[in-house]
Amino acid sequence: MKTYDFIIIGAGSAGCNISYALQKSAKKIAVIDRKGIARGASGAAGAFLSPLPGKENLYNNFVNSALEFSIDFYEKLIPEAVNKKGVLRVPNDNFELNKLKDNALSYGYYDNKKLQDISKNFKEIDGYYYENAAVINPLTVCTKLLENCDLYIKDIKKLTFEDGFYNIDDIRAKNIILAQGGSSSLVKVPYMAITHVFGLKIDVKTTTKIPFNIHKSISVSTNKNDGTVAIGATQIRHFATNEIECYTTCDECGFYVDSEKDQIDSLLTQANELIKLENLEVVKIFKGARATIKSFFPVIGKAIDYKSSVEKHPSIKNGTKIPFDALEYYPNIHVINALGSRGFVFGPYLAKILSENLLNDVEIPKEISTQKLFYKMARK
Ligand SMILES: Cc1cc2nc3c(=O)[nH]c(=O)nc-3n(C[C@H](O)[C@H](O)[C@H](O)COP(=O)(O)OP(=O)(O)OC[C@H]3O[C@@H](n4cnc5c(N)ncnc54)[C@H](O)[C@@H]3O)c2cc1C
Repeated sequence: MKTYDFIIIGAGSAGCNISYALQKSAKKIAVIDRKGIARGASGAAGAFLSPLPGKENLYNNFVNSALEFSIDFYEKLIPEAVNKKGVLRVPNDNFELNKLKDNALSYGYYDNKKLQDISKNFKEIDGYYYENAAVINPLTVCTKLLENCDLYIKDIKKLTFEDGFYNIDDIRAKNIILAQGGSSSLVKVPYMAITHVFGLKIDVKTTTKIPFNIHKSISVSTNKNDGTVAIGATQIRHFATNEIECYTTCDECGFYVDSEKDQIDSLLTQANELIKLENLEVVKIFKGARATIKSFFPVIGKAIDYKSSVEKHPSIKNGTKIPFDALEYYPNIHVINALGSRGFVFGPYLAKILSENLLNDVEIPKEISTQKLFYKMARK
């Protein structure tokens, strides 16, 4: 029996980042995934790292702090997997000119003449250029993050806690971190109501030189180090989410197989409305399901046992403040999930916050804590 400090379930952006952060602090880590590294949403990601413009609020402050931290983190960890050339944001219905202009981030306005001077392939567009943006290779990054951890390929069906340890076949640990993305959680966390937003991304080859990432409703990346350009991603909500076990790869989902061609055509059409892509060839198609919650914030922290907590403190439902410590928790289980459309922006930043909480008891900001969601549901 091999004993670890932590067993992490899920080898996507969330699981790989938290395992890296803990292992750097000399913790012994095992990571378990039913399919392998970055085989869920993380393998499908763009993976664009872009700022969120607009007037300052709690959410875009969080995104932009995460972005700053994460780009710097990836550049130090694995510079060859990062293309940091900035992003041109082209206004659309969601992000009109005012929203792009009125923000705390610095930017430069590029009119069509300026864009044409950079490349004749730009279409009749203009936009706002943000320097702090990049595109990375998600598989290379996740693989690097797990370099010094033990990876086990297993499909975990349930967790059993005996004599202070979680035993999984021939390994065990006192602590579990669930980084399961869109899959059914191994413990009941009804307050973390995940919805799946499916999407498709393609890698293409083109002879067009693309100077920086371009984002309107979809994104087109600059030419990456492996010679491809990423175009993504579509966003489709699966309305039957409750009945569908979201398995690792959308290749297994009939919903996807049927709608694949239309989505690829739509991505190519939208990309060509931004920049003319010459000698275009689609080389790979990726599909995945983003796990999101209503607030769009990601969630980290202790896994609260909802039923036992409410049974123990029924007055919570009427708004009585019960201290966090008095709630009932699944023993030594933490979660890191709901990374939504920004899994690679949030991953390193969340891992930093969660590891500091686990190792040094540093408080988790309220807006991303399991407790916030718990109280919200209990008081409803
Ligand atoms: C099409 C698309 C484009 C995207 N583009 C971007 C982008 O440009 N930029 C960006 O930052 N983000 C992007 N995202 C979002 C990003 O991919 C996700 O937020 C991120 O990958 C989520 O990481 P995760 O680790 O939480 O989940 P996942 O990557 O899904 O990992 C969860 C893992 O847990 C494993 N697992 C679950 N349950 C079990 C079990 N019981 N036993 C064993 N293993 C288990 C699964 O096999 C899976 O590998 C995109 C997502 C999609 C789908």
